[in-house]
Amino acid sequence: MSRYTGPACKICRREADKLFLKGDRCYTDKCSFERRAYPPGTQGVRRGKVSEYAMQLREKQKVKRTYGLIEKQFRNLFEKSERMKGVTGDNLIGLLERRLDNVVYRLGFAASRADARMMVTQGHFLINGKKVDIPSYTLTENDTIELQEKMKVASKVADSFKSVERRGVPEWLAIDKDKFKGSVMRLPLRDDVTMPIEEHLIVELYSK
Ligand code: SF4
Repeated sequence: MSRYTGPACKICRREADKLFLKGDRCYTDKCSFERRAYPPGTQGVRRGKVSEYAMQLREKQKVKRTYGLIEKQFRNLFEKSERMKGVTGDNLIGLLERRLDNVVYRLGFAASRADARMMVTQGHFLINGKKVDIPSYTLTENDTIELQEKMKVASKVADSFKSVERRGVPEWLAIDKDKFKGSVMRLPLRDDVTMPIEEHLIVELYSK
């Protein structure tokens, strides 16, 4: 299945939650979800009782789309999280957070995960001094993420650094904005992710 390329705001309305897919716009009154918090095509009419399966499916779709993964990538990550020690749901969230595109976004180099993914694929980052252009690359403790020299003058990075002041950099990461360099201080814990995610629903869905 290919990556969704339609309007990002439709996803938030479909998943009935703000997924913050469009950078700064998500924090303004232009946010479509703030204005029309009902699924596209329903004209605000609520549906009947939602089945357990539908809830599990919607939660999986919400998380998958928040991080911008296609089904196969998400499923692979879930299977990896199952093989790891510890709680599968926590492992899944941890692996999603440790993706390079997500870390680039979290550190504030990009205003959205979609922008971050594009910057990574264009080869704008050095990981521990070496170019890495794979958005799914998994970062680990003590890794460094540095913007390539030629991009340090790009105004969009300066704008993104301003917008990260609003959402904040998570405690497991650190950023030196003057050097355009970030680092992984420790692996992310479940509590580091404040976005409402009911990962047990995803585990239940894939365990059927
Ligand atoms: Fe979602 Fe952002 Fe669009 Fe609001 S502006 S609906 S949070 S993508």
